[in-house]
Amino acid sequence: MEKIKMTTPLVEMDGDEMTRVLWKMIKEELLLPYIDLNTEYYDLGLNNRNATDDKVTVDSANATLKYGVAVKCATITPNAARMEEYKLKEMWKSPNGTIRSILDGTVFRAPILVKGIVPYVKNWTKPITIARHAYGDVYKNTEIKVPGPGKAELTYTAADGTQIRETIHDFDGAGIIQGIHNTEKSITSFARACFSYAVDTKQDLWFSTKDTISKKYDHTFKDIFQEIYDKEYKEKFEKLGIEYFYTLIDDAVARVIRSEGGFIWACKNYDGDVMSDMVATAYGDLSMMTSVLVSPDGVYEYEAAHGTVQRHYYKYLKGEETSTNSIATIFAWTGALRKRGELDGNALLSEFADKLEKACVKTVEDGKMTKSLSLISTCKNPVILNSLDFIRAIRGTFESLY
Ligand code: NAP
Ligand code: MG
Repeated sequence: MEKIKMTTPLVEMDGDEMTRVLWKMIKEELLLPYIDLNTEYYDLGLNNRNATDDKVTVDSANATLKYGVAVKCATITPNAARMEEYKLKEMWKSPNGTIRSILDGTVFRAPILVKGIVPYVKNWTKPITIARHAYGDVYKNTEIKVPGPGKAELTYTAADGTQIRETIHDFDGAGIIQGIHNTEKSITSFARACFSYAVDTKQDLWFSTKDTISKKYDHTFKDIFQEIYDKEYKEKFEKLGIEYFYTLIDDAVARVIRSEGGFIWACKNYDGDVMSDMVATAYGDLSMMTSVLVSPDGVYEYEAAHGTVQRHYYKYLKGEETSTNSIATIFAWTGALRKRGELDGNALLSEFADKLEKACVKTVEDGKMTKSLSLISTCKNPVILNSLDFIRAIRGTFESLY
């Protein structure tokens, strides 16, 4: 078979630990034999981030803006222990945070469904994609522990010195206060990313806040979404037969549980944090969650939702056998290749991505899986494979199918 050609490079962001090991295996076993892989490679492994003063992360994000599509391996977010372990010059920021702020993007997370791994919510037969607003609110708060009686006020001073002032509370004893904010710009980008992704994936979009209680803050989110929908997306949605639907967060929770899935649920920052873990757990586990960062002007960065699987990596370093699930990382590649194919009019590339995903799913459904999957699968006699043999089994399925 002739290898599939690529016209535009894909931005490839390599990463750390066990996922870096899987990255190489995936390329060698599942991609290079079939594709003339055209990537612009950035090594986001912690050693190279440290060596380049984290410039490599910024460069990789700018390359993503230039080419439009990236695939990223999981990376270490340094903490005190990592400073020591990698002898770091600085506690470099989370690469995902850096990339997200350069792309001004929203993260969409969706589970990969396979027969035999039954969601805790039995009626969820289709994936639920969570879109989390990744800026502001309680994540950029200012707090005061109020020591005793006194008046707490909210003050805004405009550039010309004029003020808006509101009383928060007249304290007659100790208490707490918190100030949070968001910006019209960020909410607008979030809304556009959600509507674009809904059109792109032809799924309904749900959005929920608590605007009945938060009549200015949350209501502004609701209004911005509605305005952008009416002006820019209503026609596109109607043409595709998809729906934009706003409801209160508590009503949304009830509806989500009763639903069959198959839609995007846009959440404010905190709601998205909580709901994405709930949804991921209910579908099975984190190793079967994909993640894509979408910018409001249609730039895509694909990755697995899980981290670098550190515990497995330490076993690997000791020469012990590992059984790490590579499916979410493979789906990061297929997501990026499919999108590259769509943008370049390269149908062969997009078809390859579809086929490789089918091969992953069929391999697990045929009973060949990694240890963690066997623990949540209803399959009676699963064959538990090590990391490399699992990838080779997927290759075997792919070759038998196509
Ligand atoms: P993690 O790498 O997601 O792993 C947590 C645990 O989940 C693992 O120990 C493993 O459980 C299980 N697991 C996750 N992915 C798996 C897979 N593909 N196959 C099998 N089991 C899997 O999270 P972490 O240990 O908290 O974080 C490790 C590093 O990843 C940290 O340095 C963190 O900064 C980084 N991180 C990066 C990203 C990213 O780049 N997007 C996201 C999250 C975390 P068992 O050990 O029980 O088998
Ligand atoms: Mg969380």
